[in-house]
Formats: sequence, structure tokens, C-alpha cells
Amino acid sequence: MNLELVTIGTELLLGFTVDTNGAFAGKALARAGVRVVRRTSVGDEPAAIADAVRGALARTRAVLTTGGLGPTRDDMTKKVIAKLFGAPLDFDESIWNALLERYARFKRTPSESNRSQAEVPRNATVLPNRWGTAPGLWLEGQAGLVIMLPGVPLEMQKLLDHEVVPRLAARAGETVIMSSVVRTTAVAESNVAERVKVAEDEIAPLTLAYLPGLEGVDLRLTAWNLSRPEAETRLATAAMRLKLLIGDNVYGEQNDDLAALLLDRCRKAGIRVAVAESCTGGIVGQRITAVPGCSAVFVGGVIAYSNELKRDLLGVSTELLARHGAVSAEVAEAMARGAIDRFHVEAAVSVTGIAGPDGGTEEKPVGTVWFAFAIGAQIETVRAILPGTREEIRERAAQYALYGLWLRLPK
Ligand code: AMP
Ligand code: MG
Repeated sequence: MNLELVTIGTELLLGFTVDTNGAFAGKALARAGVRVVRRTSVGDEPAAIADAVRGALARTRAVLTTGGLGPTRDDMTKKVIAKLFGAPLDFDESIWNALLERYARFKRTPSESNRSQAEVPRNATVLPNRWGTAPGLWLEGQAGLVIMLPGVPLEMQKLLDHEVVPRLAARAGETVIMSSVVRTTAVAESNVAERVKVAEDEIAPLTLAYLPGLEGVDLRLTAWNLSRPEAETRLATAAMRLKLLIGDNVYGEQNDDLAALLLDRCRKAGIRVAVAESCTGGIVGQRITAVPGCSAVFVGGVIAYSNELKRDLLGVSTELLARHGAVSAEVAEAMARGAIDRFHVEAAVSVTGIAGPDGGTEEKPVGTVWFAFAIGAQIETVRAILPGTREEIRERAAQYALYGLWLRLPK
């Protein structure tokens, strides 16, 4: 089953509100086997709303709208759509009574304008809203199906999950649209594609999307309109195949966070870890401490930004700094060694680089970052040249730091 989304609200067009309803609905509807084929946002204008809904109905005969169901003048979704269907608005006593009760509970009295929220297009099904005042509406006629939901994200989500998805799932039959993500890092998108190429035919009918971001390239596999067991089996098989082809650059799946996976490995191996950060200014520590329970493994670290602090807090010699520069394998190594010695841990990671926008040279361009990964007496240094703005380089460097250590820990 195909469906179009129409999200309504001038604030969406002005950019003051991000259309999270559209994103939420896309995911929820996929679970019901309903494919969102287009999403349109329009302002609070009757002509624009009518035009968007009419066009969507003509294409797919099924539309879900969010927004414009409130009691104020700028809320006109219901009126406009009722008119499209030639349905008069009837006053619904039970909605009105529920609204009075709700107001009484909050010790408030409704105003005259609230009465409009109890109006229902004739023949529409009311989707009761226990989370707010505007009920959802399910209106079906010659033109097709329109489902109207309020714009307030929580109310829209609850109505979608409790009232809309079950009804649509029953209609869409036994199929689902289901996705699975394989997370890669420290590898270019084109390089991943190259490795995966041989499996493209096997993966069909699943589709494969490459989603590059600051944490790496995510590969999203999607099963379209398959039965749930078939979708699950195919997704699991395809994910396994991708992991084998891509190898060590795969660190996880779905929403896996590299910091959490790193801590898991440390915990299993009985290894405590510290960080020595220069250009990332604490982002590595922030990523690690964002994980609940990290204290079992993570002791802390230092942000040693100046040469003086690299010397005083980590014992990096002035001579080494002068000879190789702060952004060098030698200094990265001395930083990690310093962290191991001074913080009494079994593993440490250090980061020193040029985040820009200034400070790059021909030999060490902006984005040059040196890492050292120390586990016990073993130490390895790696250089990466990372793309992006200052903030992007720092985020990528933090991810790379977590990755490098994770990779070297016992599995
Ligand atoms: P409405 O039902 O149109 O009165 O919308 C109520 C509130 O919900 C608005 O003030 C927005 O803050 C929020 N909202 C409306 N549409 C969306 C949307 N598509 N995504 C996220 N928030 C929204
Ligand atoms: Mg609105």
C-alpha cells in the first residue's frame, strides 16, 4: 500500500519547526507495510492544503496529514478536507464531553473556539486522543482515504501507534517494510561500495542505501513488502554477507555506538582505559562518559592542548615536541604512553591533530590527525587525514580514536 504524507504548518516552511512528524510517520508506517511515496509540507492556507491533499489523493488515494487540527484560526485542515469530500461538519457530543472532562481535570474551562474541535466530517471515524484535545480523523470516500492527525508530536505519535498503524496494517495485509543497518567506519563510501559490489545481486530484492555521516558510512538494507519472517531472514543473511565482505571496518549494527562497544570489550578483557586528547578537546571522553556504567572501565584522561600541558601532564619531552611538532607519530605515542603510566591503566588512546581552519601546512594539511593506541606495552600509531570543517574533523577524529582502540582490543 502506498501513501503520501502532507505535513501542515507555516512554521515548517519558515524553518522554525523541523518536520519530525514526517520522519516519525515514515518509520511507523513502514512497520505496517505502508510505503510513504511522497512527503509534502504546506503552510496554514486553505488553498495550499486543498491543493496538496487533492494532488496526493489523485496519485495514491491514501493520505496522512499532520497539523492544523487545533482550535485556533490557523487550524483549518479539517474544514478544508471535509469540503474536498463534500462532507458537512457535525457536532459530536461525545468528543465535546471528553474535552470538558479533560479540561475539568486540569481545572480549566474550554473557550467557545474549542467547540470546533468537536466537529466531525460526516461519516468520518473519530480516533480518540487521550493525550490532547484534538482527536484524529479517518475519512474515506470516493476520492480515497485521508487520515488527519494533530501536529503536536507526542499526540501524533500516540495516535499513529495506537489507532492508525493497526488499521493500516490490517489493510496492507501480512507484509512489512523493514530495515537493518550495518555500521562501518574509517573507510570511504566508494571503498565500501567496491567491496560490496559482488553481492549486489544476492542482496536483491532488498535495497541497499549508503548513508555517510560523521561516524562513518551506514549501510541500510531494506525489505519492501515481504512477510515478516522472510524480511527478517533476508535482512539477517544480507547483513552477514556485508560484514564478511567489508571486514574490520564494520563495527556494529542498527544504533550501535562505538564508545559502548569499546567499553564492552574493555570490560570483558578486564582492561581499564584513559584518554589523552589534544585537538578533540574532550570529545573522546564525552563519547565514553555518555555510556551508562562507563566508570567500571574508564578512569578519565586529560585535554593537553598546549605543548606545556603535554609536557607537564603527560611527560612528553620538550625536545620531542621541538623535533617532530605536536602533530606527529612521536608525540601521539608519548601522549598515550604518558596516559598509561600516569593514570595507571592498561589501555590508552591519544589524539593530536590540526582541526583548522588555520594551521595547515603542505606537509601537514588541515585534517591531519595522529593517533596512538596503547594496550599494555603494545603501542601503535596511525595517521588519518580527515575531511570537513573544524567541528567535523574533531568529531571524525573522536570516532577514529574509539575505532582504533576497539579494533586492537581482544574480541
Ligand atoms: P497544530 O496541530 O498544527 O496546532 O500543531 C501544534 C504544534 O505541533 C506546532 O506548534 C508545532 O510545534 C508542532 N508541529 C506541527 N507540525 C509538526 C511537524 N510536522 N513536525 C514536528 N512538529 C510539528
Ligand atoms: Mg498548526
